Amino acid sequence: MLIVEDEPALLRALQINLRARGYEVTTSTAGQQALAEAARRPPDAVLLDLGLPDLDGTMVIRELRSSSLVPIIVLSGRAGSGDKIGALDAGADDYVTKPFSMEELIARLRAALRRDASHGGQTQFTIGNCLVDLPAHTVVRKAGGEPEPVHLTRTEWRVLEILLRSAGQLVPATRLLTELWGPAAEDSTHYLRFHMARLRRKLEDDPPRPRHLLTEPGMGYRYQP
Ligand code: CA
Repeated sequence: MLIVEDEPALLRALQINLRARGYEVTTSTAGQQALAEAARRPPDAVLLDLGLPDLDGTMVIRELRSSSLVPIIVLSGRAGSGDKIGALDAGADDYVTKPFSMEELIARLRAALRRDASHGGQTQFTIGNCLVDLPAHTVVRKAGGEPEPVHLTRTEWRVLEILLRSAGQLVPATRLLTELWGPAAEDSTHYLRFHMARLRRKLEDDPPRPRHLLTEPGMGYRYQP
């Protein structure tokens, strides 16, 4: 678990309480440092202060979300609900407002980890002849002969990962757009169509007649196992 907080007393209290409950904890006191740490050692959850000395916490969320679905709980010192909405739109899973009780924070953390585990259990998926391994970040095509690696762009990975984690369920286009490019992108459905078309060309056995990466017209997309 990664704690990102620039108030030394609160950081220490969080560290002590979470370690006492058996969580493995690393800490950062600034945004850039936190992103570097998360890239070096992907955490299983992030507790994130919004008011950091270098980056706005919302930017940290966006950056984390560009490559990961790790549960993020925001520690908000701000009274306005606009910041919370901004943080949730950027991809935070939950928030607590300072001052918060340690028990409440830990209950929310447990809930976030449970939600993550419930859809994170499966990590390998097949799309036709392709095998997708989410933790390894690899796609391999096995159509007779030697397995061939398939290269996906960062955006294609993000789209695919979101769809696979909701296997069998409709994922609204607005959710994909917001998670990928932020709330201002809600109208950019053509970008999504473009990336979906490329994913199908790379992964489906018969791209014009996809069997796994499905469009729900006017609604969104679905990964059909
Ligand atoms: Ca702060």
